[in-house]
Amino acid sequence: MKIDILTLFPEMFAGPFDSSIIKRAREKGLLQINMTNIRDFAHDKHRIVDDYPFGGGAGMVMKPEPIFEAVESVKDDSCSGRCRVILLCPQGRVFDHEMAKNLAGEEHLIMICGHYEGIDERVREKLVDMEISIGDFVLTGGEIPAMIIVDAVSRMIPGVLGEEESFVTDSFYDGLLEYPQYTRPREYEGMPVPDILLSGDHEKIRLWRRKMSLLRTMDRRPQLLQQKVLSDEDRKLLASALEITDNPKHK
Ligand code: SAM
Repeated sequence: MKIDILTLFPEMFAGPFDSSIIKRAREKGLLQINMTNIRDFAHDKHRIVDDYPFGGGAGMVMKPEPIFEAVESVKDDSCSGRCRVILLCPQGRVFDHEMAKNLAGEEHLIMICGHYEGIDERVREKLVDMEISIGDFVLTGGEIPAMIIVDAVSRMIPGVLGEEESFVTDSFYDGLLEYPQYTRPREYEGMPVPDILLSGDHEKIRLWRRKMSLLRTMDRRPQLLQQKVLSDEDRKLLASALEITDNPKHK
């Protein structure tokens, strides 16, 4: 996948994209990430990319011409097909697992990072396919949202995670939160690892994990559970777990 990030602060991306799994994916050629400085497309010798808002008000607005030209400069053949121009924006659709999965199927993403008071509305009207927010709060710029989206999307591209890593058991993959995880030592400061995980009985471990996933989702994100179509096995596991927790003998 190719990802072009249009920003006024390309230097912000140095750490996150040069470490860990993203770094490995770039080295393997699974991910090609390019940063383009919108300021390179300014029209005057002072390289000005923002201006006062028409109608008055606080802050500066990013001018349309440099953004239109920056997007044009990174478009290629993929842009007639599986290519999306994304604006990072607190007014956009809130990013989630489904969006990450869908975006991982694109060939080319072009991400526009706003800054200051935001961007000229005509960019939104003419250039942008999707507006994505990372939550109902306002950040100083679109750079950190772009990093978050690239990270979440990249790990769903086939081959990016190693064989021993997988996203299919992660939270949200099948509509539930993940079960609790433990590693060595078997006991830490009086807190033991559940016996079942040490039993070597794979079927019992699978059922325990599924039950914990269901309970955890019900406890922390009940809406996710309401949206999920439960299998017969899920319903039985949940019913037996609830019976145990409701029974005063087991409290
Ligand atoms: N005045 C804008 C508004 O009220 O909608 C907010 C502008 S914000 C200070 C500057 C830039 O940060 C935005 O153009 C956007 O690119 C980015 N940004 C801020 N919060 C964001 C969020 N929650 N999700 C995605 N991008 C965000």
